Amino acid sequence: MQWLAGKQEVPGAIMGEQVLISGDPPITLELKASARARRFSLRVSRLDGRVTLTLPRGASRRQALAFAEEKAEWIRRHIDQHPGELRPMPGDGLPFRGTVLPIVATSGRAVRLAETGIEVPERDPHRTPARLCAFLKHHARLALVEASARHAAALGRPHGRVTLRDTRSRWGSCSANGDLMYSWRLVMAPPEVLDYVAAHEVAHLAEMNHSPAFWAQVARLYPRYDAPRRWLRDNAQTLHRYRFKD
Ligand SMILES: [Zn+2]
Repeated sequence: MQWLAGKQEVPGAIMGEQVLISGDPPITLELKASARARRFSLRVSRLDGRVTLTLPRGASRRQALAFAEEKAEWIRRHIDQHPGELRPMPGDGLPFRGTVLPIVATSGRAVRLAETGIEVPERDPHRTPARLCAFLKHHARLALVEASARHAAALGRPHGRVTLRDTRSRWGSCSANGDLMYSWRLVMAPPEVLDYVAAHEVAHLAEMNHSPAFWAQVARLYPRYDAPRRWLRDNAQTLHRYRFKD
């Protein structure tokens, strides 16, 4: 969604301002102005629980706060359903290829997949999330490069570069010149889910749309794609809860 209002359209320049609604727990709310909105609207992000209040044109900050106070209980109820971010540390679990593995601190120097779980160096614990992120990206790259090559060979069309990003709105994309982009968080999902996303993006090499012809192509590469699609819909929020940066 795009927020179209500029500062000149809403007096008081309240774009992006964060406000705190007191209570238990207090709520942090981001104000956004929209030239198109006709009324106040509240949104709790399904991914990270962030709360946004959109103001219609001409609305004042005071009116916005009054509206938010009135809806505070509703907001709290929705935030409860979307718990906040997790910074994975020893003792926590981390989803890896569809299984939540325990994170175990050891005297080793590198992150390592072991029988007991994912081993992380006990030294410099503040670096654990960043180390785990590098570990996930490494395995995501291996799996996505392999799956892309396999599906492209089955399709009979070469793909371009494979890049990994941390995208929230999509799990992958295919550019007009055949470059593939994936979210490295896919390595947290079951292998068949990652495989479906690779098949989906590779199928775009043949059909640059989501037409019936495209889905027929996906079905040839990955026959029963309903289950992984549903899995992604149901679990996107969980995979995005994990936070690896400071
Ligand atoms: Zn697509």
